[in-house]
Amino acid sequence: MRYVSTRGESPSIGFLDAVLAGLAPDGGLYVPERWPTFTPEEIAAFAGQPYAKVAAAVVGKFVGDDVPAEDLALMCEEAYSTFAHAAVVPLKQLAPGRHLLELFHGPTLAFKDVAMQLLGRLYDYVLSRQSRTMTIICATSGDTGGAAVEAFRGRAHARIVALFPEGRISEVQRRFMTTATDKNVACVSIQGSFDDCQAIVKQAFQDDQFRHAVDLSGVNSINWARIAAQSVYFFTAAVALCAPARKVAFVVPTGNFGDAYAAYVATRMGLPVARIVAATNSNDILARAFEDGRYARGAVSATQSPAMDIQVASNFERLYFEAVGRDGVETGRAFRAFASTGLLDIPPSAHAKMRELFQGASVSEADTTKTILSTLNETGEVIDPHTAVGVAAANVLRLADPATPVVVLSTAHPAKFPEAVAAAAGVVPTTPRATPDLSKKPEKFDRLPADAETVKAFVRVFAGGQG
Ligand SMILES: *Cc1c(COP(=O)(O)O)cnc(C)c1O
Repeated sequence: MRYVSTRGESPSIGFLDAVLAGLAPDGGLYVPERWPTFTPEEIAAFAGQPYAKVAAAVVGKFVGDDVPAEDLALMCEEAYSTFAHAAVVPLKQLAPGRHLLELFHGPTLAFKDVAMQLLGRLYDYVLSRQSRTMTIICATSGDTGGAAVEAFRGRAHARIVALFPEGRISEVQRRFMTTATDKNVACVSIQGSFDDCQAIVKQAFQDDQFRHAVDLSGVNSINWARIAAQSVYFFTAAVALCAPARKVAFVVPTGNFGDAYAAYVATRMGLPVARIVAATNSNDILARAFEDGRYARGAVSATQSPAMDIQVASNFERLYFEAVGRDGVETGRAFRAFASTGLLDIPPSAHAKMRELFQGASVSEADTTKTILSTLNETGEVIDPHTAVGVAAANVLRLADPATPVVVLSTAHPAKFPEAVAAAAGVVPTTPRATPDLSKKPEKFDRLPADAETVKAFVRVFAGGQG
């Protein structure tokens, strides 16, 4: 399987090279040269299979010959044995035709673990064979950093630097990163927003000299392996609800558009999906893009669902590339212009294509709070604010066929956001038994301004100090 850049100016490369590279040299994102597919019979046969087995089958389509199937199967088995639920990502019914897909049973209590646990093992596998040690830099809106630190800490062939926006993430989120004592972990509090952190990562990748000096890699959802691993649970959830015979609608709490785009990937692989709703908080650039056809950056505001406080959704470029008929020249033009103007008018034909499957919904802070309380009152389930954004969007969703089952992705455990949940519903969510108590462990992190040169200098010293 070969991968091409969405900006059309970089040569095609194999799966492992695309994974390790992060961004393509032309500034684009890698996507598969053609979509691998499953037949309806193959999809139906996923029903009742262990999650790790479906993961090996789905991810295997993207890996191609780069990793032997039995090695990939073993990595999937190990990755998903770290989850505290035997179903890995259980589906829970909320109401008739309404379901929650619980993606938070991994070690850091958010859906980022699903992909990151596999990525940590994949990097180890490849880099140990190449006798190579890479520096992974990761911008986090709160959950990616913890999941990445957990997946990579103590590994011999990678060091990890997590950049998080100062004061914009919950204490539990921060502690999942900053209490790691391993030598190969550095956490940096950036005096800026998540978009600033992500921009620093992109600039670091575009500096060839720096990239080579520290052997840079990235595990944000620009990394294709993240997307591939996240496309798996759309299959397992849909077959549990009788796909492919019946279509399912997915409501995806969205920030960087990785998860919602992974749903799209599943459809390209043959999964019949009725609708994908990108549910945002008041940082609604994506909801506006799908509804109005105009992708326009706004100012980031802090909300109860900090992992979605994002105004520049990296993976939207991948969808745009498909919607303009895989025209790399047009995609490059559009996103280079967007980087400087903050504005992109989606061509009407491309917007119409997006609308065939996607719809946007933005949810206010007040509705998020109300939904946490009403969900508790109506179902007994305590949900986190990110999940509440999805449930609120599902509550107003009108589908052509009302019999279509609706699956809301539950992206974080409520115990990761205890203050917001307590304020909304008057209950303090309990931390799962398997999670260690991090509240008393000492924290270790540096503070830096939102400046790419300063951060690069820090990373050079950190990488150099490790040999
Ligand atoms: C990362 C995250 C999201 C947003 O996912 P994207 O793939 O960035 O759209 C939503 N909820 C939680 C809890 C997250 O950690």
